[in-house]
Amino acid sequence: MKRIVFLISGIVFAAALLAQTMVHSQPNSPTNKIGRSLKAAYPKYVSAYDDASITLNNGQKLNYSDDIANKTHEARLESPDLDDMFWQTYPFGVGATVPATDFDPGRYRNSPFFDAVYGNCFNGAVDNKMVSVRWVNGANVRFTSANGANIALERVARELERLGPSFVRYLVPTSGTYNCRVIAGTNTRSMHAYGAAIDLNSSYGEYWRWQKDKSKGIRYNNRMPMEIVRIFENNGFIWGGRWYHYDTFHFEYRPEFREYAGN
Ligand SMILES: [Zn+2]
Repeated sequence: MKRIVFLISGIVFAAALLAQTMVHSQPNSPTNKIGRSLKAAYPKYVSAYDDASITLNNGQKLNYSDDIANKTHEARLESPDLDDMFWQTYPFGVGATVPATDFDPGRYRNSPFFDAVYGNCFNGAVDNKMVSVRWVNGANVRFTSANGANIALERVARELERLGPSFVRYLVPTSGTYNCRVIAGTNTRSMHAYGAAIDLNSSYGEYWRWQKDKSKGIRYNNRMPMEIVRIFENNGFIWGGRWYHYDTFHFEYRPEFREYAGN
């Protein structure tokens, strides 16, 4: 009898434990990791997160998932939810390898989220956040001050200067930062529309759209030195040279990927 009571209480205890695990948020669930990474990377803009959504400091709630199953690559690019932003893992620290077909980590950008952080340039909400950043070789560039992006770029610039004179030709003249427009061939905005991206010297750049004959697919090519790439990546930026749809002189401030990789 005692044994049966012991057994039953054991089962009840196990069931209670299981129920509790199911109700309470799980610290290592995939969605929770997204919320944690976004809050760490955008601390002034993300006030809270749980298993289903993040809450912005303006009170707006953004769900991780839009519940659309089996999105195509094009659909993910056109209207990515927060889940889609982390769909592919950004490969920090590796060399310039040829990306697999449609491997574009970081090209999925959820506009409601970035509008809340940087503003929507079509409503004039980005211009008032633009500041001057001391670039290299006496040049200055305009960059957004939202989320400390300008400070991150300043750090990059000081580290780039230490690489020495042989690297300057890749860095100046720059080919643009803030540009309020949609990406060619899409309705979406790149980080240039938020003032949080920089194009280095296009004379040393490669861009997939410049490849004339794409009948045999996209052929990866890169001349950007990895010393430059590493400095950007160590300071919260990602590199367009990691993408199948490559853009090797493009860097954008996306600190959520470092956070995601590190937790
Ligand atoms: Zn660019």
